[in-house]
Amino acid sequence: AMAIAFYLALTSDHSFTDAIVILAIVVLNISLAVRQEMGAEKALEALRRMNAQITVVIRNSQPQPIDAIMLVPGDIVSLQAGDLIPADARIIESIDLKVEESALTGESVAVEKDANAIIDSQASIGDRLNMLFSGCLVTNGRARAIVVATGMQTEMGKIALLLNTTKRSKTPLQKKMDVFGRIICFVGLGAGALLFLLQVFSEPLPVVLLNAVSLAVAVIPECLPIIVTITLAYGVSNMAKKQAIIRRIPAVETLGSASVICTDKTGTLTQNRMTVQQVWSVNHQPKATDVELNHDERILVEMMGLASNASLGSRTSETLDTGDRDLNKNSNSEYVDKTVGDPTETAILLLLRDIGIEKPSLDAIYPRVFEIPFDSERKLMTTVHELDDHRYISITKGAFDRIPVEASAKSAQAAQVVHDQFAEGALRVLAVAYKYYEDLPVNLGPDELEAGLTFAGLVGMIDPPRPETLDAVETARQAGIKTVMITGDHALTASAIASQTGILATGGRVVTGAEMAKMSDDDLALHVLDYSVYARVSPEDKIRIVKAWQSKGEVVAMTGDGVNDAPALKAADVGVAMGSGTDVSKNASDVVLTDDNYASIVNAVAEGRRVYDNIRKVISSLVACNMSEILIILFAVILGWGTPLVAIQLLFINVVADGIPDLCMCREPMEADVMRRRPISQSASIFTGGLGIRISIVAVVFTIISLAGFYLGSFVQISDSVAPSHAIGQTMAYVVIGWSSVVNIINVRSYDKSILTIGLLSNRLLFYGICLSLVLVAVTAGVPVVRDVFYCVPLSLTHWLVITGLSITPLFVVELIKLMQRGKKSISY
Ligand code: ADP
Ligand code: MG
Repeated sequence: AMAIAFYLALTSDHSFTDAIVILAIVVLNISLAVRQEMGAEKALEALRRMNAQITVVIRNSQPQPIDAIMLVPGDIVSLQAGDLIPADARIIESIDLKVEESALTGESVAVEKDANAIIDSQASIGDRLNMLFSGCLVTNGRARAIVVATGMQTEMGKIALLLNTTKRSKTPLQKKMDVFGRIICFVGLGAGALLFLLQVFSEPLPVVLLNAVSLAVAVIPECLPIIVTITLAYGVSNMAKKQAIIRRIPAVETLGSASVICTDKTGTLTQNRMTVQQVWSVNHQPKATDVELNHDERILVEMMGLASNASLGSRTSETLDTGDRDLNKNSNSEYVDKTVGDPTETAILLLLRDIGIEKPSLDAIYPRVFEIPFDSERKLMTTVHELDDHRYISITKGAFDRIPVEASAKSAQAAQVVHDQFAEGALRVLAVAYKYYEDLPVNLGPDELEAGLTFAGLVGMIDPPRPETLDAVETARQAGIKTVMITGDHALTASAIASQTGILATGGRVVTGAEMAKMSDDDLALHVLDYSVYARVSPEDKIRIVKAWQSKGEVVAMTGDGVNDAPALKAADVGVAMGSGTDVSKNASDVVLTDDNYASIVNAVAEGRRVYDNIRKVISSLVACNMSEILIILFAVILGWGTPLVAIQLLFINVVADGIPDLCMCREPMEADVMRRRPISQSASIFTGGLGIRISIVAVVFTIISLAGFYLGSFVQISDSVAPSHAIGQTMAYVVIGWSSVVNIINVRSYDKSILTIGLLSNRLLFYGICLSLVLVAVTAGVPVVRDVFYCVPLSLTHWLVITGLSITPLFVVELIKLMQRGKKSISY
């Protein structure tokens, strides 16, 4: 359009203002877009920083969590399965250590590493078995290692792959909009061509060309792409405020579509603030831990302490260097910043401290010589200790049904009764058994260490549901989202907690990992709708659960924190990792919850729906205006009334008048009923749920009122002072479409609720934006000199009153439609 305007100015008496103003509007649009994009980029960048990596170092003999960027060579890091290795380091201690080094070597099979391996000085990276390399993942076991290189000095740094390149992918909505955009381009070109044909024989060629191009300009919603980007970015930063850090942008929208949330119990639905409440040692009665323990019970607790890996830290340890992130939000209050490790184990250590024993002194008396680490597949672990008489003891602690003790033994039967009693009281139960050896066994595998054990007793620990969980489950239910609990705990414990949190309230059954194992994938898919609780499952089962739901066409969000959860997180439509979880799980996820809280997922879903809603609102405002602009021009030309709107006017309305308030739309607050609607269907078009019809009606109304203004101005003597003319008609058409499209933004704020319910001022920014746009249109049409640039001429008061009346018509029409539709059916996607 600008080129044609320049050509016109050069070849005829046409002035240069046209070309210059078009240029100004284009520049304005671009700079606005760049500025907003930069803001969005900044928000996303801040987010990347929030994904900082925390690692455990030993400083002053104490394990403490620090931000990995604070590591220096010489630091001793403590790593375990699931950790991302933060620096290159020489292993000094290793137990069953396996590392996946594909990021560095391309080899996807995990490599066994060993502190004692002696390596040739010329060995290639893949063969340096006593070294850990930054950016690789610990998949098994534990290690301590001395940092030898950090940052760009590491092997990974050398090949400059250190930067975690986050792929930019488009959201489903953005893809739908690309299609929509292409259609609109064709419509624009078609309409332009039609106008050209209609006018080419009656008007000079450059003018016809300019009109045709203006029409194409009118059709294309110039501001839409940047508004979508900003709305998404604003949604992302809003979610971050609500404890959900988005790692992949499309997740914002997918969250809004989620129809099933599969969530871990421990730590997500519950507080992960475990406290041992009951102990039972064989041959005694179960006992609450608030009374004094007898000798056998003390031994039981000591054994459990020996077989634990957590640490409480000292009360004097210095403040931690973790930035604003708190690793152990969920552990017991007094030691909040100092405990390291599994809350199940810190609970034991706290009980141990209550009976006057500190774990380090216990470890000094009975040094640990060997360990088979806990894994949630086996649900037990074993440690071997040297006794003072040089004999050895192995202690196995874990799930009661996984401890291999003689089932017929009398103690086992008694234990079963006590176990069920604990579990029905919503307690997580841990069992302990042991075995003595004269000499350290040669075979240190489970078949030796975990056979022929003597049963010692049970402890039951409470892990109360988070206070928010009950409400969040109910909110999700109203929003058409089913909550499914997944836990490694016993079925009795699981159903007790599920009942307390409302997950089992609406029917639904408990199924165990063992039962699942007997089902084929098809069987599972057949029954998946009935199961609300999966108990005693291992992480590997999660992927089957995800697939079963997906086969029913559901959009599944799945939580996870362990190494083995990564595949399920990837398979789920939204993988949700825990802030306290392993680096492996975070890498595989779309969202990380900083507070590990189930309620945060539900909040994020609501936010996702808000984002989707707001984008739909912007689209309906822009499309209605643009469609009407085609109709106005085509009809006026076909009716022989002349051109009603010129290029500058169209550009100004599309980019400035509509653009400003639409940009404010990304801050539009959530509608009260977002969580009382069904999830957004991913296959549905943007215009489903009656939106397409609504847009068409509004476009027709716009067309009628603008043409009315154009007609009245061009042909009717509505005021004594101003005679009708084409210029008057154009001015009126311009102000009517400009004002009414701005006023219509008030309409699109809700599909079914009256503006009187929403309140004009509930989005202040938008309100100011609307006012500003109304004023700008008035200025361009009414202020001397300025109005010349916009092809406007002076109007009488009567004209302005007529324009005002016409411009607010859409408000009343749409309010009337809303009134008629209200109560009939609520909005659905
Ligand atoms: P969840 O996913 O609910 O945390 P896990 O798989 O971690 O479940 O634990 C399942 C069972 O394993 C628990 O009920 C408990 O009996 C046992 N268990 C959990 N943590 C430990 C541990 N650190 N040491 C020994 N046994 C454990
Ligand atoms: Mg666990």
